[in-house]
Amino acid sequence: MVTTVSRTDDVRARAEAALARSGVELGAVKGDALAARTPITGAELFGLRADTVEGVDRAVEAAHAAFLGWRSVPAPVRGALVKRFGELLGEHKEHLADLVTVEAGKIRSEALGEVQEMIDICDFAVGLSRQLYGRTMPSERPGHRLMETWHPLGVVGVISAFNFPVAVWAWNAAVALVCGDTVVWKPSELTPLTALACTALLDRAIAETGAPAHLNQIVLGGAEIGERLVDSPLVPLVSATGSTRMGRAVGPRVAARFGRSILELGGNNAAVVTPSADLDLTVNAAVFAAAGTAGQRCTTLRRLIVHDDVADAVVERLTAAYGRLPIGDPFQESTLVGPLVSEASYARMRSALDRAVEEGGTLCAGGERQLAEAAPGGYYVRPALVRMPAQTAVVREETFAPILYVLTYRDLDEAIRLHNDVPQGLSSGIFTADQREAERFLAVDGADCGIVNVNIGTSGAEIGGAFGGEKETGGGRESGSDAWRAYMRRATNTVNYSGRVALAQGVDFSQ
Ligand code: NAD
Repeated sequence: MVTTVSRTDDVRARAEAALARSGVELGAVKGDALAARTPITGAELFGLRADTVEGVDRAVEAAHAAFLGWRSVPAPVRGALVKRFGELLGEHKEHLADLVTVEAGKIRSEALGEVQEMIDICDFAVGLSRQLYGRTMPSERPGHRLMETWHPLGVVGVISAFNFPVAVWAWNAAVALVCGDTVVWKPSELTPLTALACTALLDRAIAETGAPAHLNQIVLGGAEIGERLVDSPLVPLVSATGSTRMGRAVGPRVAARFGRSILELGGNNAAVVTPSADLDLTVNAAVFAAAGTAGQRCTTLRRLIVHDDVADAVVERLTAAYGRLPIGDPFQESTLVGPLVSEASYARMRSALDRAVEEGGTLCAGGERQLAEAAPGGYYVRPALVRMPAQTAVVREETFAPILYVLTYRDLDEAIRLHNDVPQGLSSGIFTADQREAERFLAVDGADCGIVNVNIGTSGAEIGGAFGGEKETGGGRESGSDAWRAYMRRATNTVNYSGRVALAQGVDFSQ
């Protein structure tokens, strides 16, 4: 058990060193408009300048001007910029991971993992820069060629959440840049520091590769800064990651001006545990998925739907594992669960636990605050495990904290019904050794999520696959597979080389 927490002065010094090593000029970014804080102690580290709405307009205009040149640079040459950026991320992995830990409170391996995810998407995007394929289709008319061409779209507005302060931006930015787009990024107001560091590194890659300046702009501030980006007619695509509440505000605004949006919103992820499941594997996977990142991932496991025959055994093992989890300062190597991002998160967790008990739940483990003496302003909690008699109202909501609700079922149809009976549709899993059950879960009438796993927890995704979810999760897809198409515009081209006019569908208009 970790009992001490870093001092704010040490965290501040670490942040300043990491920023300076990444090429951020502290004098230029410090100000008094936005507080850079750390959840490790809850204290403010220093003030930062923020942008005004006019500043957003200027950033969009600069990115648009850069787009007019960048779109004509051949895609593989655009890939060279992203390649260099990926190399710089690798060189500065430790500094960036320090900043992720400082402002998001992620433990060391998860902070390093977040930076690795940026490096991985750069690799992916570099390969993609030679694979922006269009198709050729057989024309029904003789002497005609029918094909599609993919063109760059314009400025992509990226709005990101605190819990993945940089990886989600990189998913968007690396792909957008090889697609010939430029980017204006509004990071979470809770995590501006890593964003500044990544921007400095991308600016360096831009300068070194001779790409147009202003390809990537950063704008700092809260929701009003995001709204300005959302409303800008020079931004054809808004990619917004955050709560469903935010998506409800952003989606209709972008649609009202016929812009496109990629919405990556809240999840309420579940896994089904069948009687044939390997329980050691299941419990290991579930503990990381539910308690890792202090329950602050969009893919965090929030519901475990366990067959009656194994429910007691699973709850017993989980309770024991939860009791052993090392909670504390995320900079300490032994820690597995760091702090919640804020006091408000802790208040929401407590309120959800109170409601769960009112709705008939039994708290089996956790829920209590930890390290309150060592870090009065830090909100460390023991992840909570709650057995519920039914899928009640509180279970159907996303509480962005480490609460795992355990429900039981008797037959797989009932489990799938429970699984799908929530408004969100991001990530899901089934633990089973029975291939028929696995296939049933993956089938058309199985899990209704964007991510459906077998013998893997719900959290954590690889770059190669498309990431995103259905229903109130927003429907967006990012990162791998063919998610790049959302960042480009498709032109369908028909070329007539026959020397005669031939109309489709046999229409005859001859005079
Ligand atoms: P949040 O919704 O509070 O903020 C996210 C971002 O949206 C911030 O940059 C914020 O300033 C901005 N924003 C808020 N209101 C806005 C508005 N009206 N117009 C424009 N911008 C606005 O979310 P958060 O607390 O930072 O992150 C946690 C939430 O994000 C959880 O619900 C989590 O599930 C979700 N999330 C989803 C994914 C995914 O890929 N599906 C990934 C990470 C986080």
